[in-house]
Amino acid sequence: MKKNIAIIGGGIVGSTAAYYLSKLDHKHEFNVTMYDDGKGQATKAAAGIISPWLSKRRNKKWYNLARDGATLLSDIAKETDMSKDIYDQCGTIITRDNQDKLNDLYQKALVRTKETKTIGDVFKLNANEVKSKIPLLTKSLPGVLVTGGARIDGGRFSKHLKNIAQSNNLKIVNKKVAINDEGKIQLEQDSIEYDYIIIATGAWMKNTLSNLPLEVDVRAQKGQLIELSTNSIHSNADMPVLMPEGERDFIPFSNGKLIVGATHENDKGFDLQPTSEVIDDLLASANRLVDGLNQENLVKIKVGTRAYTSDFAPFFGNIPQYENILVGGGLGSSGLTTGPLIGKLLAQSIVDKNNIDLDQYRKPIENYIKIN
Ligand SMILES: Cc1cc2nc3c(=O)[nH]c(=O)nc-3n(C[C@H](O)[C@H](O)[C@H](O)COP(=O)(O)OP(=O)(O)OC[C@H]3O[C@@H](n4cnc5c(N)ncnc54)[C@H](O)[C@@H]3O)c2cc1C
Repeated sequence: MKKNIAIIGGGIVGSTAAYYLSKLDHKHEFNVTMYDDGKGQATKAAAGIISPWLSKRRNKKWYNLARDGATLLSDIAKETDMSKDIYDQCGTIITRDNQDKLNDLYQKALVRTKETKTIGDVFKLNANEVKSKIPLLTKSLPGVLVTGGARIDGGRFSKHLKNIAQSNNLKIVNKKVAINDEGKIQLEQDSIEYDYIIIATGAWMKNTLSNLPLEVDVRAQKGQLIELSTNSIHSNADMPVLMPEGERDFIPFSNGKLIVGATHENDKGFDLQPTSEVIDDLLASANRLVDGLNQENLVKIKVGTRAYTSDFAPFFGNIPQYENILVGGGLGSSGLTTGPLIGKLLAQSIVDKNNIDLDQYRKPIENYIKIN
């Protein structure tokens, strides 16, 4: 008997879960239906930086998740033949404003190379060497280059995986749904029962679960970034991503596109309106690195909603007391890095739950979802 599985949310978590449910479905055991509203999706708005190794975060389980997530992204890109404009291992440079901090960062990077090959090679660069890697820059600090760093286009990455899954067992319904008080999917007037439900609704998770007696620790955070065209001053080189100390992240493309951002606006929650002060602030940050950028270079403003938990760690797995409902949420500002691994783990939790160790990557789910 085929099992019916619903996924709510078509961002990076839901899409990767769908991809793995189609891949692991050797015996054609699953019918998978994805419900996606699409509005405000963080995955489509994201900057796209994949470079977790030198993060200042101290949560070891989060680091394991992000480190193995970065490796999984690179594997998925290879196995699904992704083009360079979806996933590009272009390298990342992280700068520091004094020599001691730079040396510490470099030492940390060398230690990380022993744990994972995905980080690639590590180089300490002086300011001129950073500028030669990113000819667009007029000013720079010294930095550390990790050649395994990557940038992805989150929206296209998810679409690519959904297309593969659709050719096997995935059906997509672009509608908003809820979980009703019986733990079924409520689609308009219809209550639909599934063998398993994966909830990957990002910042909307609290809302999705509001009919069940649960307390969910997720808050929404607005993020804005700008896309500039640098064609007038551009050199057409392949360039790494720059994470400059004290400035916004700087993501240059060889076709002249430059993304700068993103903001972390806690008080603005689900608001999707771009704001002129923020655009000015992002433009000013870009201008401190590249002379002559102004409003005329502005091409697009992207706004999305991230999901955060109280301790900034994501949560995933079965919900306590609802064994057929799984969640993956609270991914915060590194969700493109951790999301694919969370999606894969959720799919494996359905297919092969006895052979999967979620606890190497997560704190107890009861820390984030409590029974009322
Ligand atoms: C501006 C910005 C920059 C970022 N930059 C980076 C970065 O450089 N690197 C990095 O690793 N991460 C980055 N992130 C974080 C990353 O984008 C997110 O953590 C990640 O995309 C979250 O994925 P998700 O699948 O959990 O949620 P989302 O991508 O938000 O997807 C959730 C989906 O569920 C849908 N949905 C919600 N409720 C319902 C419902 N009731 N019925 C049907 N559908 C529903 C939504 O419409 C949405 O499509 C950034 C985020 C933002 C906003």
